[in-house]
Formats: sequence, C-alpha cells, structure tokens
Amino acid sequence: MSQIELPESLTYESWSESLKNGTLLGQECADCGHQTAAPKAACVRCGSRDIATIELETTGEVYSETTIAVSPLGFDAGFKLAVVQLGEAKTVGRVSDDVEIGDTVTLSDVFEHEGQPSPVFESVE
Ligand SMILES: [Zn+2]
Repeated sequence: MSQIELPESLTYESWSESLKNGTLLGQECADCGHQTAAPKAACVRCGSRDIATIELETTGEVYSETTIAVSPLGFDAGFKLAVVQLGEAKTVGRVSDDVEIGDTVTLSDVFEHEGQPSPVFESVE
C-alpha cells in the first residue's frame, strides 16, 4: 500500500480525490469495527461517530455482479457492475470484463462521469 496522508474525517471530496489517484479510502468504526468504502457521517451499523479514515485494499472478491442493460443517460449500454468485498468493506464498481461471484478482482481504472469518479475493477488470474 502507498504511504499517504489520511484525512481525519473523510469527505466526498477527499474520497474522490484519492480515488482519482488510485487509492480507495474508507472508514472504520472505533466502537464496532465496521468498515465502509464510502464517506459516512456515522457508523451505519452502530451509529457511532467515532470513525477513522482508512486505506482500503484494492484487490478483493466479487460479492455479486449484474449487467445494467438499460443505462442512465450518458452511459454506454450493457455495462457490468459488481459489489466487491475489499477486506471488511464492500464497494460498488464497474467491471471491465466478465466476472463471476467469487472471482478475484483488482482496481484497474477509474471511471469519471461529470467529475464524479467510480472504481473500475478487472479480474486477476
Ligand atoms: Zn460501529
């Protein structure tokens, strides 16, 4: 993992800036240990506000996947999304190739739409 300065409280801005540089940030609850892959004001499991910014792993396992056949305006049709388990956290991202539940994937790219980044994963052998 890279050595980066982690912001004390994670905002959407710091989360998206880091993602554009290939680093996935998340949060870990000091009270229950729950990890998330996106900025939240409080722990979604226990409600604690004692949550610290952490750097997430960029390689994980496909938890579920789906193909979006009818795309929102501005998106190519037929793209695939996957929920990826990264350590204790789950995140949603695009997948650049055919993946199945249980496959190992790694962060390979960042898809940007109107300045909003989202992670892109590809399978690893
Ligand atoms: Zn918690």
